[in-house]
Amino acid sequence: MVIIMEKDASEEQIEHVIERLDEVGLNVHRSTGVDHTLLGVIGNASIIDPRDMKVLPGVADAYRITAPYKLVSREFKHNNTVIRIKDVEIGGNRIEVIAGPCSVESRDQTFIIAEQVAKTGVNLLRGGAFKPRTSPYSFQGLGEEGLKILREAADKYNMLVITEVMDKDQIPLVSDYADILQVGARNMQNFSFIRALGKIRKPVFLKRGISATIEEWLMSAEYILSGGNTDVILCERGIRTFETYTRNTLDVSAIPVVQKLSHLPVFSDPSHGTGLRNKVAPMARASIAAGADGIMIEVHHDPENAKSDGAQSLYPDQFAELMNQIRVIAEVVGRKAPQPRDIS
Ligand code: PEP
Ligand code: MN
Repeated sequence: MVIIMEKDASEEQIEHVIERLDEVGLNVHRSTGVDHTLLGVIGNASIIDPRDMKVLPGVADAYRITAPYKLVSREFKHNNTVIRIKDVEIGGNRIEVIAGPCSVESRDQTFIIAEQVAKTGVNLLRGGAFKPRTSPYSFQGLGEEGLKILREAADKYNMLVITEVMDKDQIPLVSDYADILQVGARNMQNFSFIRALGKIRKPVFLKRGISATIEEWLMSAEYILSGGNTDVILCERGIRTFETYTRNTLDVSAIPVVQKLSHLPVFSDPSHGTGLRNKVAPMARASIAAGADGIMIEVHHDPENAKSDGAQSLYPDQFAELMNQIRVIAEVVGRKAPQPRDIS
């Protein structure tokens, strides 16, 4: 942290700032410029809030020069984190695609969609059993029954399961069925919940909050890593802006920004990011071109009758076409992509 004193700051005021820092065990490097005195804080400055310095008499400004997160940063760990789950690697050279319905609605629906996405090469099946819905009157998910269906469908077609866990109490139950636990956008800053996810031994898929800055998102990941769980996958899923033509604004630029700041894998979810079927494939292609380690796509064989997010779900043939395009784009950016599978 650097603290800039006002032009006419008195020696007493400068000493006062130094004393305050000394009280919390921080040393100061003092330099006197032509107009201003600068105080460079030496030590772990993350324990102090720059605002507490800014309000001290004689202080013109104070700001951090190092990020407040540590374990998630590239400074701390230079090489990309690669998460291995059975024979799937997330964050390695091969991009991965997560696909499936928004919600697990029934056995038939889930098995039909699982078969369709598996054929295209998908290794990770998604589907919500516990749904975070804006309205309490909307479909809330099938609960444990949904988890069972999802697990069976994934096993039948040799895929991994990713599904959302909505609160701390659900962690043991969801862990029994899922390979990856998803934290929804609405829960990204539920700190007691994400802290608990630091204590488990399953990868966590951490979606960016609807109005979270990249720094806040990385700080949430830091909660999980600081608890001991280093397997965190970040997912950009669109943020709320003033734009109304799309459900959210997919922040594609967050992908390279996060990759510079952090070693963790970064996914993109253009389904929630745009909310509209005909916008999903273009933004999925853009995400892979931007360097995402993978994408999450909602697929439904009968989206008009879907219990949630039908408008943003791709038909299976649209999804298969997108997979073909992604294989080409992945090659251009030096990545491998999942290949079609014979599932008969
Ligand atoms: C979802 O993936 O089904 C979901 C609810 O996502 P988000 O938390 O990003 O809205
Ligand atoms: Mn959804």
